[in-house]
Amino acid sequence: MAVTVPIYMDYHATTPVDPEVVEAMLPFFGEHFGNPSSRTHVFGWTAESAVETAREHLGHLIGCKPPEIVFTSGAGESDNLAVKGVAWASRDRGNHIVTTAIEHRAVLDACGRLEKEGFDVTYLPVDGTGVVDPFQVEEAITDRTILVSVIAAHNEIGTIQPLTEIGRICKARGVLFHSDAAQALGKIPLRVDEIHVDFLSFSAHKLYGPKGIGALYVRMTRPAVKLTPLLDGGGQERGRRSGTQNVPAIVGFGKACEVASRVMAEEGERLTGLRERLKAGILQRVDRVYLNGHPDRRLPGNLNLSFAHVEGEALLLSMKDVAVSSGSACSSTSMKPSYVLRALGVGEELAKASIRFGLGRWSTEEEVDYTTEKLAGRVDRLRAMSGAWPVGKTHTRSV
Ligand SMILES: *Cc1c(COP(=O)(O)O)cnc(C)c1O
Repeated sequence: MAVTVPIYMDYHATTPVDPEVVEAMLPFFGEHFGNPSSRTHVFGWTAESAVETAREHLGHLIGCKPPEIVFTSGAGESDNLAVKGVAWASRDRGNHIVTTAIEHRAVLDACGRLEKEGFDVTYLPVDGTGVVDPFQVEEAITDRTILVSVIAAHNEIGTIQPLTEIGRICKARGVLFHSDAAQALGKIPLRVDEIHVDFLSFSAHKLYGPKGIGALYVRMTRPAVKLTPLLDGGGQERGRRSGTQNVPAIVGFGKACEVASRVMAEEGERLTGLRERLKAGILQRVDRVYLNGHPDRRLPGNLNLSFAHVEGEALLLSMKDVAVSSGSACSSTSMKPSYVLRALGVGEELAKASIRFGLGRWSTEEEVDYTTEKLAGRVDRLRAMSGAWPVGKTHTRSV
């Protein structure tokens, strides 16, 4: 059993760049260095054609037309562009936005800024598995609602939302629908017409592409949506995102999408298997473990567990040779429990003692087994040291 440490098990934070992607990018740093906006010579044409090919690869993966793709610096920027762009462009139609309590900070903070500008935002609750109730979305929509924004697949808990149902409601009510699909792209099927979505946010580095490049899908029909840009200037990306395109990164993003189209189904199955192996192994070895998120409506490579009677910070720090993360924000003195787990109704102590395991393209069975053993040993030791075990009695949540 050959395992090389440290083991990377944090694929939701970022992913290594696929060698095939690196290979595709390289010529665009050297030989093909042109500016895609240069219309008068072959250097520009080559760069432009490469950018358009990447647009086609992403379009193919999500079932949209290439011109509906706007390249940005990442999902965070795309979230800001969708939320603020719609809000600023729709002031005459309304001032109300519906979103959820578990969105990525990019959506929550964009909404927070809009609230200061006089917009009203409804933050919908989620159930104990992190699922948003489409009926509550419908109930929240008023005649002043301009946008609904719901994360497609969650970066912490992996929960996949009922996008099609929510999209259908938004379409029927004539409200624009945005979804942060940074974690969903290339991991689960995502077709813009099936989910009736108007905007989707993406980051290449969650998909084995480079960092600092992402995209926003913007629907062009039904009718074309209005969007105020965040950046003005050269008018690149059809005026929606000025600034010279990052050609090598865009080429890499396109290649990452092409690879994903090819391997997604098989990879999803393999990762679901590894995820279940990890879960079963830990449950077998450790008592008082609680699953966060939905048992099966979740990203293939995501597992999020809480360990009772363990100090979350101590557990994370003791796992030095396995790179995992907690939803908790570490400050110098204490851990703040994840707002996402709190929104699911997880108690403060369990929310602090959570670990997110993120499996991906290069995760192996050996790594899963090593992590299981390591973790079980650490939990046993920490519980013994603290003397707090066995004391558990009133937990009602269980896997
Ligand atoms: C990573 C991530 C983002 C932010 O992506 P950046 O590349 O940092 O812009 C936004 N939303 C979700 C769900 C993410 O996982």
